[in-house]
Amino acid sequence: MKSNNAIQFRSLYEGFDTPLTGLDCGFKCAPHNPRGIPFCCDLEYTVPVAYQSEWRYLSGHTSLWRPWRGGLSASEKEAFADLQRQIPEHLCLLQCLGARSCDRSYRTLSCRQFPFFPYLNSHARFIGLTYDWEFRHQCWVISNLRLVSDIYRKEFIHTFDQLFQTWPEDMQCYADLCVETRAYYQAERRRIPLLHRDGSFCLISPCSERVQRVSAERLPRFTPYIPAQSTPTPIKTQAKIDD
Ligand code: SF4
Ligand code: SF4
Repeated sequence: MKSNNAIQFRSLYEGFDTPLTGLDCGFKCAPHNPRGIPFCCDLEYTVPVAYQSEWRYLSGHTSLWRPWRGGLSASEKEAFADLQRQIPEHLCLLQCLGARSCDRSYRTLSCRQFPFFPYLNSHARFIGLTYDWEFRHQCWVISNLRLVSDIYRKEFIHTFDQLFQTWPEDMQCYADLCVETRAYYQAERRRIPLLHRDGSFCLISPCSERVQRVSAERLPRFTPYIPAQSTPTPIKTQAKIDD
């Protein structure tokens, strides 16, 4: 990335500091993790990434982080090599001191954005947030999108507007990810849930890219976060493309 120095991470972090929801969602998901910690802070499930320049900023200001090198066993080394190959050159893999030593003011952007990433349509327009589908059975927030605060959504959008203006290469990486996302949902015959930048909730057809505004209650929920219902109405756990 050519213009790494143009981003001031302290200022970026201060503008993207509002919690996802009004409650500590770590208390919602941690009881479902055998290790008793939030899934997004557990290296068994996800490894934080940072922009190279972000890592330079963090390493000069806090001892919270160090490069992640994987474990010592052959399979762990292989897993590290795999992940290293998968991430773009402008990112690096990190590990923190652990959930019980979290210093919120030095969380990476990847911590702050989890479980979301910017959704770009096929015209490369950044229209909102969607989530990482792979964490649907771990992350409580994914099943409770209606509780994501408007301020968090606005800060997310403002942060990535700034990043994309400065680093068009990063925008291209997300555009590529969204191509894969549409292919994935198309294969699953499901629509893509979206927190639109205009404040609405939507479902997007991965084929036509038609955007349908829906009530938050219509968005899919997943086990183990589907509430027990006393009514006979079945809970819709996923929206199909043809809904
Ligand atoms: S963002 Fe998701 S995985 Fe992370 S603490 Fe909140 S509910 Fe758990
Ligand atoms: S810095 Fe905090 S939020 Fe980020 S992975 Fe570590 S414990 Fe989790």
